[in-house]
Order: sequence, then C-alpha cells, then structure tokens
Amino acid sequence: MASCILAIDQGTTSSRAILFDRHGQVHGVAQEAFPQSFPRDGWVEHDPEAIWQSVHRTCRQVLADASLQAGDVVAVGLTNQRETTLVWERDSGRPVYPAIVWQDRRTASLCQTLKEQGHDARIRERTGLLIDPYFSATKLAWLLDSIDGLRERAERGELAFGTIDSFLLWRLTGGRVHATDATNASRTALFNIHTQQWDDDLLALFDIPRALLPEVRDCSADFGSVDPTVLGAPIPIAGVAGDQQAALVGQACFSPGMAKSTYGTGCFMVLNTGDTPAVSRNQLLTTVAYRLEGKTTYAMEGSIFVAGAAIQWLRDGLGLLREAADSETLARAARAEHGVYLVPAFTGLGAPHWDPGARGAILGLTRDTGIGEIVAAGLQSVCYQTRDLQACMSADIATTGDTLRVDGGMVGNDWMMQFLADMLGVTVERPHVLETTALGAAYLAGLQVGWYQGLDDIARLWHGERRFQPTMPEAQRERLYRGWLDAVARVKSGEAG
Ligand code: ADP
Repeated sequence: MASCILAIDQGTTSSRAILFDRHGQVHGVAQEAFPQSFPRDGWVEHDPEAIWQSVHRTCRQVLADASLQAGDVVAVGLTNQRETTLVWERDSGRPVYPAIVWQDRRTASLCQTLKEQGHDARIRERTGLLIDPYFSATKLAWLLDSIDGLRERAERGELAFGTIDSFLLWRLTGGRVHATDATNASRTALFNIHTQQWDDDLLALFDIPRALLPEVRDCSADFGSVDPTVLGAPIPIAGVAGDQQAALVGQACFSPGMAKSTYGTGCFMVLNTGDTPAVSRNQLLTTVAYRLEGKTTYAMEGSIFVAGAAIQWLRDGLGLLREAADSETLARAARAEHGVYLVPAFTGLGAPHWDPGARGAILGLTRDTGIGEIVAAGLQSVCYQTRDLQACMSADIATTGDTLRVDGGMVGNDWMMQFLADMLGVTVERPHVLETTALGAAYLAGLQVGWYQGLDDIARLWHGERRFQPTMPEAQRERLYRGWLDAVARVKSGEAG
C-alpha cells in the first residue's frame, strides 16, 4: 500500500483503529473493548487510562497487522464518543477523576434547577442544545463542586478540561496540544454555535473557569503531531470530529437536506441544514455538522434511545432469537399486516413525544400472534421511530431530502431496510463502506493534508452498496403509521418531558 490515513474511533464501548487508503477503502481494523463502570444508579464512568491504553494498543496493532510503520501513515484522523467529560493535570497528564460518560444522569437535579430558573431558552438559543445531564457542562460543574480543591486548582490554571478528543490529543501529542474541534465543542453546552466561541455568560452560569478550556479548531486543521514515543515516528493529526458528525462526513452528506441515520444500540439521525442553524420546535438539537476553513455548516440531530437495543432485548431478555441477524428470517416469515406494535419505551419516549415516565408495551396481540410477528414489530418500531424524527425535521425545516443514508449494526437487515424505505417514503441508501464514522475522520484528515481538494472530491468516493426504494402504497403506509401513533398514545404517562 502506497500510503494510508490512520483513523482512531474512540467509542462508548470500544476503541477502533482503522487504516484507509485515498479511495476511502479499509486496509485494516483493530478493535478493543474496555470496561464500563456503573458505580451508582444512573452513574456511568470510564477509566481514562483504559481508554488511552485501548487506543494506543489498537493503533499499534493495526499497523503491525498491515506490516506498516508509523512513517507510512500520512495523517491521523480522530473521532470519538461525544460529551463524555474529563479533567486532567496539565503537569502530569493524570486525570483527576474517571471520565463521566454521556449516559451518566448524576446531574439530573442540577439540570432541573436550571430549568426551573428559566435558563432553557438562553441555552437553546446559544448552544442549540437542551438543558440535560447528557451534555458536558453540568458534568464539569459537578466535578468542580464535588472534588476537594478542584475549583481552586482549576482557577490557578493547573488543570485541563476536555471531551475524549481533547484528552486523546493531549496524550497523543505528549501534552503539547490542548484543543478540540467545533463539533465536539458544540456538545458541551458551553460553546456558542453562532459566534463559534466559548460563551462567557454560559461559563458564568455553570461557574466554569476559562483556564480549563481547550482551544477550538476547525475539523480539518493542524492538531499537532503524534509524539514519536507513541507509535515510533511523528504523524500529523489533521482531522477531528465527534462520532455522529464524522459519520455525516463519511456518508458525504454535504448538501442541505441530506441526512444520515446510524442504527446501533440507539439511533442518531443527523440532517445537514447548510449555513442555517435551524431551530427545532420539537426539541431536536441544533449542532455543528462540521467547520472547515472557518466556515460552519450546521445540522439538526434527533436520536432514538432504543433501536438495536430492542433486538438485544428480544434476544437476551425474551430469548426469542439466538442472534440479532435471525430477526430478519423471522420477520420475513411473519404475516404482512400482523397488527402487532412493540413500543420499546424502556427508558421513556424521546422526540417528539418526550415522556420520561412512559414505559414499553406490546399491543395488538391475537391468538395467532407468534414469535415472528413480535420480532417484526421490534424491527418496525425502529422504522416508526425514524418516521417520528423525519416528521419533526420536515415540520422544522422545509429542506428534507428524498434519500436517507444509513449505517450501523442493524442495517445489514434487508427486511428492516425495505420497511424503513416504505415507512419513510424515501430511498434508503446503504453504502459500500459501513465504517462511516472512522471514514469521516479519515476524510477530514485527508482534506487537511491535501489528499482531497474539497468536499466534492470526497462526495465522489461515496458508493452505494444497495438502494431500497419505497414500494408500499400510500394508504397502507399511513394506516400502519397511525397504528404506531395510537400504540404510543397508549403507553404515555402524561408526564411532560
Ligand atoms: P453500537 O455501535 O451501538 O455498539 P452496532 O452498530 O455495533 O452498535 O450495532 C449493534 C446493534 O445492532 C445491536 O443492538 C444488535 O442487536 C443490532 N443488530 C445487529 N445485527 C442486526 C440485524 N441483522 N438485524 C437487526 N439488528 C441487528
């Protein structure tokens, strides 16, 4: 292989290192899971050292497997689980506390207080986000308030805050770079997405010393160079983006109206809205899609809490499946209009229903309902929830497109992809390279080092593996979707989100 880019994809449950060539083809993958820690109800932590070790090992492994030296790598691109919050000592690089993971709910009561004090509108207007424990700001505030001496040390400039990208940049560069990119910054609730600066009012509101914060750079930029002690030779770090934004880039959704949906444990749908930071009336998020040469492109984002997790539950909770892929065979054999709805509201309902008190249900059972119908309903629930998000997005902005690009572990299920196309009434496109997150990071690095002259060059590299066209008659589609909305109405708790 002439040369390659090394993409680091630091995810919630595992770290991956992937080599890409100039055409966006994969030339090697190394992956390592690391432990999850749940010290209390609602708390989720990661050991930063375990994360760093897993990244370090997978990078070395993927190079060794491909018989490459660090000197053969043109650049590093980095993508990461977003919002997860860390503070470390500038002197030693040692974290002062475990990483508080995006899923962690320990700051729920602080968020409730902020809402009651009426800060919602200001935060939404400046950051595009809602007040929620999910985002980094309250996690960082919790650290400063809960750990003895931390605030004083922060004020003295001894400490650094970062999301996982910043921490990895620090470690990769041997402590020379304290930076983040605009997409990761846009998930902290401290970053003003209009001015593209850390927001002084928000820093005051959350009581965060400015001395803690990383410098915010474009997604394709000079992020320093990998210290030679790490992989044996210096390599420029040239691209950084949060995982969902990297996937948007990997799927080449560069025009307003283009959208991608990633179907893993949960689902994240991201719609490019161009220069416009479109505001949602349905509590979807406004976020930075990417920032290149100082120019910001925005996106609207919606998520589904339970997507693949519904299939995991059918497999592990109910024992209806041996493995997730068996869901396809069972669903194919199910009756076409079986009338069964599975509402996987295990942890409440998200957009547009927003009901944290709702709980799941299986409705419409008859004497001839079998395993196949229940499994089909599980797969269909993911499609109906995508339709819910699509409805929000098209109500919020006019320019939703007529295709959806998909990736993630579930999209190997052809039966589900066909139902998704039918339910949305749009073409569902599955790409050839499914490693879209890592690919996006590689593309961003490739832009910086001159592999690509612009986004058009990257868009030309996107190849569809299969397109699913909607074939379901309109009346049937609407009847099925109305059935879903009725089922959802039955599980609501009446508690507002
Ligand atoms: P994550 O990155 O969130 O860990 P992945 O993208 O690896 O998730 O996708 C794994 C999820 O996809 C699991 O929840 C699994 O149940 C589901 N899944 C995998 N294969 C299939 C399939 N063929 N049909 C339906 N669901 C599947």
